Amino acid sequence: MTKSQLLIRSATLADGTTADILVRGGRIASIGGAASTGESIDATGYVALPALVEPHVHLDKTLWGEPWRPNTAGPTIPDYIANERRVLSNVTTSIATRSSALLEHMVAMGSLTIRSHVDVAPDFGVAHIEQMLALRETYRDLVDLQLVAFPQTGMLIRPGTVELMEEALRLGYETIGGLDPAGIDNDPIAHLRTIFGLAERYGRGVDIHLHDPGELGVWQIERIADYTEGSGLTGRVMISHAYCLGMVSQGRVEAVGRRLADLGISLMSSAPADIAVPPVGLLRELGVTICAGSDGIRDAWSPMGNGDALERAWLMAYRFDWGKDAQLLAALDAVMGSAARAIGRPEPTLAVGEPADLLLVKAVNPQDAVVRRPKERIVLKAGRVVARDGVYLGIG
Ligand SMILES: [Zn+2]
Repeated sequence: MTKSQLLIRSATLADGTTADILVRGGRIASIGGAASTGESIDATGYVALPALVEPHVHLDKTLWGEPWRPNTAGPTIPDYIANERRVLSNVTTSIATRSSALLEHMVAMGSLTIRSHVDVAPDFGVAHIEQMLALRETYRDLVDLQLVAFPQTGMLIRPGTVELMEEALRLGYETIGGLDPAGIDNDPIAHLRTIFGLAERYGRGVDIHLHDPGELGVWQIERIADYTEGSGLTGRVMISHAYCLGMVSQGRVEAVGRRLADLGISLMSSAPADIAVPPVGLLRELGVTICAGSDGIRDAWSPMGNGDALERAWLMAYRFDWGKDAQLLAALDAVMGSAARAIGRPEPTLAVGEPADLLLVKAVNPQDAVVRRPKERIVLKAGRVVARDGVYLGIG
């Protein structure tokens, strides 16, 4: 009986108070309630948070666990795409091994809900799609892993890709991806018509990588809004990166932002330092759901990234000079409540009756956790400790 019960003693709550949290049957049974004589862990000095949400990563292309590989990409996005094909064709370690290693590390850092884009391309075929489904199955009791059929090498310009993307949806991918409808695929309307058509037919969401700059990018955001409205996919569409919103006037951002808010189109930013980024503070004020994602981690695009969603929250705070408490909490929200909402999952909350999927982190409060990203962490899935101090333990 005690196996299904755990007392988390003296945890700090978000409001700064201290309480015991009783977990029973995988859910939070009480907060600050009656004492328990069963199994317990000491959470003195640890702030209790819902587990983190990673809304944008590419597990299938990571080189996590591989020997260090110097970045050899050229300057343009097509150069990066071609370089990645060369690098991955020389890697002999299986996708299962590489993506499992990164996924377990991300769990160890505190993420239990993850959206991963998965390359869909003729040279990869169905096998690649199926390998990621197998990964999802392997970790189904530990991680809510959501898969996006992503046309990394282009869609319309690569015959056979649309058919494979549809096959991915048929096999159970939750979301259909897109990639620079103008800049890569050269036909934005046909691109959007195709992916929204598939989303409608299979009842799935949409997540579009949009790197196209300036007015070309913003024009595509407006068309994405048109298609979202026309297809009844309100609340199920995300635009990833959208650098263009950092390149146009505030008035233009406000007009587009209001439309995004009305249609529940969320924005993902990795808070990059080297390019214009959407003014996420303004967009949040307009009601747009903003989330922060890692994007690629240790891959042929970049050796950067460490799989820590808390660090991604810090990067967002750092990029936008967010030092006020409300701003630090907004940064945390970008890898928690807003990230969950952005990918169509319920917002994780620390409350009685909710799943005990928790991150205990040694910090005085959530703001402090964002600023310092402490290594001392305990991750619980359904009330079971699955990682401690960055070491993955699994559900064994
Ligand atoms: Zn990406």
